[in-house]
Amino acid sequence: MAKRHCILMGPPGAGKGTQAAMIASAYDFEHISTGDVLRREVSKCSDLGKRAKTFMNRGDLVPSSLVIEMIASRIDDGTGKKGFLYDGFPRNREQAEVLEEMLQKRNETIDMVLYLDVPEEVLFSRIETRIKLAQTTKSEPRADDCEEILEARLEVFKRDTQPLVIFFKNNNKLYTIDGDQKPEVVFEDIKKMMNGRV
Ligand code: ADP
Repeated sequence: MAKRHCILMGPPGAGKGTQAAMIASAYDFEHISTGDVLRREVSKCSDLGKRAKTFMNRGDLVPSSLVIEMIASRIDDGTGKKGFLYDGFPRNREQAEVLEEMLQKRNETIDMVLYLDVPEEVLFSRIETRIKLAQTTKSEPRADDCEEILEARLEVFKRDTQPLVIFFKNNNKLYTIDGDQKPEVVFEDIKKMMNGRV
């Protein structure tokens, strides 16, 4: 049976990780978060981690070749699940084209793209809350969770990822969800979009 392929997109701090976990479990998808995989590699000090760290800590994208390799092996490894949910990938046109080519070889395609729409001022206040929470719980905040780096991540999002959102919109694959609501409400809206389509 052909696997389903869904992409979750949104600016940094939009809540992709939270929603992705809920979607993956409700729809029996394999959740692939390139950000999580990269952070794990950084903490392991692996070769990949060492190469990725400098880019990540300044809010830049890591070179596409690094993430594409990761994704290709996850797809090839296969899974008993119904499909894949990509979170944080693709992030530019190049990555999207490579993904589409990989799927074409399997007679599969990108089925739908969910876009979490959140205004910029909300993103900044969420990151502030995340930093404060890390301070009060004395846990380690994400290295790129600070106001200046968020600005850089947002710039990269606007420059590289926003055009991809428009590209998917023009291909009638984009479903926009208001991400400025409580997580449970966002998830209800996502389900309304997904039911009957995947
Ligand atoms: P966010 O969406 O909040 O920026 P992520 O966890 O998705 O967080 O990504 C964190 C960082 O990991 C990015 O700023 C980037 O450096 C790197 N990264 C993640 N996914 C990709 C990707 N597909 N291509 C290039 N870099 C990536």
